[in-house]
Amino acid sequence: MILPAWFHAVNNAPDPLKPLKNQKALVTGANSGIGEACALALGAAGADIVVNYVSRPEEAERVVGLIKQSGSRALAVRADVSREDEVQAMFAQMLKEFGTIDILVNNAGLQRDARFHEMTLEQWNTVIAINLTGQFLCAREAVREFLRRGVVPEVSSAAGKIICMSSVHEVIPWGGHVNYAASKGGVMLLMKSMAQELAPKKIRVNSIAPGAIKTPINRAAWETPEAEAELLKLIPEGRVGVPEDIARTAVWLASDASDYVTGTTLFVDGGMTLYPGFATGG
Ligand code: NAD
Repeated sequence: MILPAWFHAVNNAPDPLKPLKNQKALVTGANSGIGEACALALGAAGADIVVNYVSRPEEAERVVGLIKQSGSRALAVRADVSREDEVQAMFAQMLKEFGTIDILVNNAGLQRDARFHEMTLEQWNTVIAINLTGQFLCAREAVREFLRRGVVPEVSSAAGKIICMSSVHEVIPWGGHVNYAASKGGVMLLMKSMAQELAPKKIRVNSIAPGAIKTPINRAAWETPEAEAELLKLIPEGRVGVPEDIARTAVWLASDASDYVTGTTLFVDGGMTLYPGFATGG
């Protein structure tokens, strides 16, 4: 039977509730905080998800279970993102199980804080290796697959999408955390340089710069009422963010709704980068 053209048009129209249907996504550091929320949101939007983790496999399996409840496939894969061999093995496993990758969320990150004169080389190297080199290693493997496969128009108008989890500290200097701020400043130009080089191949690369989001990484900054009150002085919107604020942004950046967006950082920070002190001073 020959089906009329309208039938194909209706059948192939993107489902507004599942904008990432038939896409495969890898989220690093997806067993906690922002990465977990991104993995759940991309899964709910229709993508199959690799839940990367480095420790606490039971938390990764919990996230896998939640994604499966939304009807998407999910798989937990252990890899330290700062280790080239482990990153390559993780991508090999993903390609074997899911066939390809369409979306990478480069989320894994940590802090090792110290006053500048007391910071050890180990603290410096650990943060740069995971927050910056880890993003390079994962992006490189993803791009190799995007270039090999190219655009599949029924799946997405892009050959691939990379979302780098940066921070407001890609632009706000942060005393006591110079390793972290340097790593996120590095992520900014890693992202922009990749975006410039890869745009002709229809690969989109963007960053999300969260402000203060309630997760384990910054528990001390919001756990007590006193600490939260101090933190709120830096946030014009008057609330500390939640991981879902970031996850919603990641879904949009991964979808064709943002087809003409590449090489940009979306600040999701309740206005933290608006120099709030100048609202009353200056
Ligand atoms: P989190 O501690 O809850 O999550 C970090 C995740 O990264 C964890 O799953 C952890 O296991 C994983 N990870 C750490 N080292 C890893 C490694 N070597 N290999 C693989 N995974 C590793 O913290 P979060 O707040 O959800 O942080 C996620 C990202 O968001 C980080 O890149 C962080 O810098 C960024 N960020 C967070 C905030 C915030 O306020 N929470 C603000 C700005 C940016």
